[in-house]
Amino acid sequence: MNKRLSKSEFKAAIESNIKTLYRKTIDEATVDQVFQAVSYAVKDIIIDEWIATHDEYEKQDVKVLYYMSMEFLIGRTLGNNIINIGAIKEVREALSELGFDLNAVEDKEPDPALGNGGLGRLAACFLDSLATLGYPAYGCGIRYRYGMFKQKIEKGYQVEVPDEWLKNPYPFEMKRPEYAYEVKFGGNVRVEKKDGKDVFIHENYNSVRAVPYDLPILGYKNNVVNSLRIWDAEAITNFSLEHFDRGEYQMAVEQENLARTIVEVLYPNDNHYAGKELRLKQQYFFISASIQRAIARYKEKHNDIKKLHEKVVFQMNDTHPTVAVPELMRILLDEEGLNWDDAWAVTTKTCAYTNHTIMSEALEKWPIDLFSRLLPRIYQIVEEINRRFVESIKKAYPGNEEKVADMAILYNNQVRMAYMAIVGSFSVNGVARLHTEILKKQELKDFYLMMPEKFNNKTNGITQRRFLLHANELLADWVSKKIGSDWICNLSAISKLKDYLDDEKAAMEFMDIKHRNKVRLAAYIKEHNNIEVDPDSIFDIQVKRLHEYKRQLLNILHVMYLYNKLKDDDGFDMYPRTFIFGAKAAAGYRRAKLTIKLINSVADVINNDSSINGKIKVVFIEDYKVSNAEIIFAAADVSEQISTASKEASGTGNMKFMLNGAITLGTMDGANVEIVEEVGKDNAFIFGLSSDEVIKYEKDGGYDPLEIFNKDSEIRKVLMQLTNGYFSAENPGMFKEIYDSLLYPDEGGRADIYFILKDFNSYAQAHERIDKAYQNKKAWARMALLQTASCGKFSSDRTIEEYVRDIWHLKKVEVKMPKNSK
Ligand code: PLP
Repeated sequence: MNKRLSKSEFKAAIESNIKTLYRKTIDEATVDQVFQAVSYAVKDIIIDEWIATHDEYEKQDVKVLYYMSMEFLIGRTLGNNIINIGAIKEVREALSELGFDLNAVEDKEPDPALGNGGLGRLAACFLDSLATLGYPAYGCGIRYRYGMFKQKIEKGYQVEVPDEWLKNPYPFEMKRPEYAYEVKFGGNVRVEKKDGKDVFIHENYNSVRAVPYDLPILGYKNNVVNSLRIWDAEAITNFSLEHFDRGEYQMAVEQENLARTIVEVLYPNDNHYAGKELRLKQQYFFISASIQRAIARYKEKHNDIKKLHEKVVFQMNDTHPTVAVPELMRILLDEEGLNWDDAWAVTTKTCAYTNHTIMSEALEKWPIDLFSRLLPRIYQIVEEINRRFVESIKKAYPGNEEKVADMAILYNNQVRMAYMAIVGSFSVNGVARLHTEILKKQELKDFYLMMPEKFNNKTNGITQRRFLLHANELLADWVSKKIGSDWICNLSAISKLKDYLDDEKAAMEFMDIKHRNKVRLAAYIKEHNNIEVDPDSIFDIQVKRLHEYKRQLLNILHVMYLYNKLKDDDGFDMYPRTFIFGAKAAAGYRRAKLTIKLINSVADVINNDSSINGKIKVVFIEDYKVSNAEIIFAAADVSEQISTASKEASGTGNMKFMLNGAITLGTMDGANVEIVEEVGKDNAFIFGLSSDEVIKYEKDGGYDPLEIFNKDSEIRKVLMQLTNGYFSAENPGMFKEIYDSLLYPDEGGRADIYFILKDFNSYAQAHERIDKAYQNKKAWARMALLQTASCGKFSSDRTIEEYVRDIWHLKKVEVKMPKNSK
């Protein structure tokens, strides 16, 4: 770090930016304008490092990772960037002397929400770690004009409001028109013979120009700046009289429309495949542009395309970028002139695939007629990949047609994207140990048996720099005072906190910080929900996307059960508890939206019932997103991770809570298993069916929720309250759909498919254990501190090092800045 600005230099830069951007003095500037001015001052520093980083990559001719993802949930970047350039103190003081508060200025940044949830946030954490560790990488994605919708709660219902994150210019992005590429859709493929070889000519297509915007991704105080490259679409044919005259008016309008619609909006489905044609267009659009650019960059220095894999690796984040496999083949075959075998050898040494889910509703399967109409040349290539793969299945399992049916990429008039990803990749990884085991033993067993060398596990991680250093300054400072600041770039060092586990004073300081963070969240809740919550109560939090498998319903049914006990059972008492929810439901996911309404209806009744003396409060935080997540994690006592075992591939929210000293209440699912392994079984509240038990019930049947309903009067009472208007006097039948889903078979012939009633009692008992444990303040403090002290494994730095070691094989680069570069 050579280029540092002093406080007074920052002040001067901010004032000067206000002048050039707005023709104003600092006294006349709004906070929004100050946000822009500070961002430009910071960007000015970043630019030099950005240039230096890429010069170094060029000089060393490094291998580059392209992390391909439909989603990057980066969240606000100003605060993180200031930390990473090592200027937090200078900027805060400069602003303060100019009469502005840094937190208020940070709040003016839109929260770039180019993702839905865990998958997109993982991509953002990975970029942070890659830059901090000094690995050459690009994130490749889409510059959605509207990111994840903003959620408003009106009369208890979710209302979606467009996220106009680009309404004001986003100061950190840079348009790079020099790297624009054409991407083609539709039309037909004509085959011609040339020198005895087939040549494939794509004609009558529509096309758009993909134009990249780069966002800087800063390493922590190491001068490294990588790029997140997000693609915008522009029309190639501008509407003109010439086209009108030639009768191509229709074509011109279509291309304008295509460009406008293709990057318009992020699909708000998390873990759910909707099969929309525009989504496939988005996928091909950003993949084609990213690969064209990667190859052009490679060819600037190298002339043997057969060695592409030595300098380039494409990581596909889930199946959404899987068209990378046939697109790379297309370029190698049609543009670079390789024969099939050579092209396939390059492709399968360059592409790698991360599987994120085993849930069938999330698996992408495109109808062949749609796929082949939209991407005719790509489809031809997929057909040939499939033909050759089917041949190899037949060779491995002669006469076994079932294997072909189970494994073929093209089957039942569909393109099975996960299968194409596996066949076209040299690596297939799951995202937590349990998930990878389920892939190998169940969901992808046939593929594992045929190509075991491809399969590996990479347990997810999170960046401690955003979720502790930035999100929880009080705790971050305290940790550094106790054990030094090594943990910032080496989270395993945080285990030194274990020395303080039996130091009562330290444990009390730790809990005092938790309390102050609870006060901060209570103020946020007061401001946004107008609900008073008691920071001395247990903050029991479930924040994540709303999905049936994540079982927010189990949580709220249990709240109803506790409320009934408080009202009905004189002998019952409990420690005051604040149940906090935050969750967006996909706009078209009716039952998830009804669950939000149920939570809010229950909250209305309970929060306004003075007879329970405030023992329970229920809060639904509107618009859960990265920026408020940071406040929420810091304030949690209990982290609800209660998915049906086997359904949550990993989870990453669970790790963020742990980092901030919250104790897990969870099932043995996803990365919870590994969290429990780190903290020990006695330091987590575990309940419910195991994944093996769930899978067995799913296969063999044998679970009838009606039996539980009939036997257990407390559960029955809760369920009856869903249909008797107890929480919805205005419309007693409102929650009947939820009631029915728990008791009566769906179209697949099963009831309560997420085992809510089956796990209910075990969940309620875990809550009782929490109630008891919290009342022993000393023991609780020890357990909370142990969470933070044990979370070393869950840094995304560790995850990235494993990807580098086993899959990407990148080399670390050091970037030195010339002295006094400013
Ligand atoms: N959404 C946001 C804003 C997050 O920060 C996270 C945390 O990782 C997630 C979603 C994913 O949460 P979970 O892993 O609990 O589903």
